[in-house]
Amino acid sequence: MRSELETLAHLGINPDILESGPDDLVRAPGWRARVYPDSPDRKACSACGVPAMATRLVPLPDLGPRWIDYCRDHMIAGWRYRNGTVEP
Ligand SMILES: [Zn+2]
Repeated sequence: MRSELETLAHLGINPDILESGPDDLVRAPGWRARVYPDSPDRKACSACGVPAMATRLVPLPDLGPRWIDYCRDHMIAGWRYRNGTVEP
């Protein structure tokens, strides 16, 4: 399994611009509003900017918890890359 930072680099996402999140990684309070279709606070995909349909709260080295918001295609691309099912 590849690291989160390797995956972000593969997807062209600069981790420094990701929004900081809460320390509660398990419950990730606020996640629904980031991806719910009718939410006024719905976020854009961190990779391409279309409306996000998935989000993850991930502790990144030296940066702390950061939100990574994904459209469908980048969610799948990130999952596949992280799990090594696609060659770089
Ligand atoms: Zn995307």
